[in-house]
Amino acid sequence: MSLQFEIEANTGKARTGRLITAHGEVETPVFMPVGTLASVKGVPQDLLEELGIQILLGNTYHLYLRPGVQTVQQLGGLHRFMAWPRAILTDSGGFQVFSLNDLRKVSEEGVAFRSHLDGSSHLFTPESAMSAQIGLGADIIMAFDECTEYPAERARMQQSMELTLRWAARSKRYFEQHKEEVPWSGVRHAASGARQCNPTVGNRRPEAGSSQALFGIVQGGMDHALRKESAERTVEIGFPGYAIGGLSVGEPRDMTRDIVESTLEHLPAEKPRYLMGVGTPEEIVEYAHLGIDMMDCVLPTRAARHGLLFTSEGKVSIKQARYAADEQPPDPNCGCRVCRRYSRAYLRHLYASNEVLAQVLNTVHNLSFYLDTMRAVRHSIRLGAKAPFLSSE
Ligand SMILES: [Zn+2]
Repeated sequence: MSLQFEIEANTGKARTGRLITAHGEVETPVFMPVGTLASVKGVPQDLLEELGIQILLGNTYHLYLRPGVQTVQQLGGLHRFMAWPRAILTDSGGFQVFSLNDLRKVSEEGVAFRSHLDGSSHLFTPESAMSAQIGLGADIIMAFDECTEYPAERARMQQSMELTLRWAARSKRYFEQHKEEVPWSGVRHAASGARQCNPTVGNRRPEAGSSQALFGIVQGGMDHALRKESAERTVEIGFPGYAIGGLSVGEPRDMTRDIVESTLEHLPAEKPRYLMGVGTPEEIVEYAHLGIDMMDCVLPTRAARHGLLFTSEGKVSIKQARYAADEQPPDPNCGCRVCRRYSRAYLRHLYASNEVLAQVLNTVHNLSFYLDTMRAVRHSIRLGAKAPFLSSE
């Protein structure tokens, strides 16, 4: 059994439920914080657990370059390496190659690119991207796709979509042949006698017979007909979950929403649906109500490092001088450990002084705010299902 998805309640197009992975359950709709290099910058794993995070995202491209897949694999996989016992999803690397490499060369075989770290040459193919993700050992992994640039001509969008479909079939074929190679698949970590850190944390043995789940990715640019075709043909190949990729690449927000809404109509209701790379607190609420189950974005963590807090009263740029003597908590309606303890004046001082703690506290608040937002969304979906007259739709 690779992955189970149980829908508990539907309200309008929205649904709430549970993803059951090899490393624990995830309540959906879920926002997945990004831990690019096996770390959510500035926040230790025990604190991430305390915040209630059930699934993290890691970036295959970055981990492949540093520390390298083989290193992580030899250390027992990503969960054990980073001491994170809960679920992990890795992306395929396609989007980072797309966004970080001006010199990439796309062919039928795959994408040749140069490392942004040292300029060395590499080739990602559907097979090597699967091999890397199997070696890293996340619970959910993604088919190798080409993220179509925006804007693009229709012929270009179609050609790119066709390539992604061929790569999806190759990804699935390779995965089916090699999925037993995941570091935690039936492996008994024999006691070596050497002292190990955290013998239990990050090393909780997955359920017997559990394996990774490979999701397909719908592309098709900003064209509704191509999105429909991409969705239908990806579903034909057959995956335990489906992602909508190629959005948030510079297009207007209304267009993102339109494409998401129309694409969702062509994805099976009983499978999890993952919208990649969104969004603001308002957007994640909106997409959850459209029927999206999973989302990820660097926004809450990256913005935090730049002194931008998301609050119930809107965005707060904590670096501003107006907060220098403000004794209020960052968000008076937030119950997170930062808002219970510290003032805006203190956070402003930390930021202005370039203290490391500024990044940590800002990130903890923003993640708490995003998680609370999704808790409220799940609650409202459950309430709506119990009392349909309360639903705003
Ligand atoms: Zn807070």
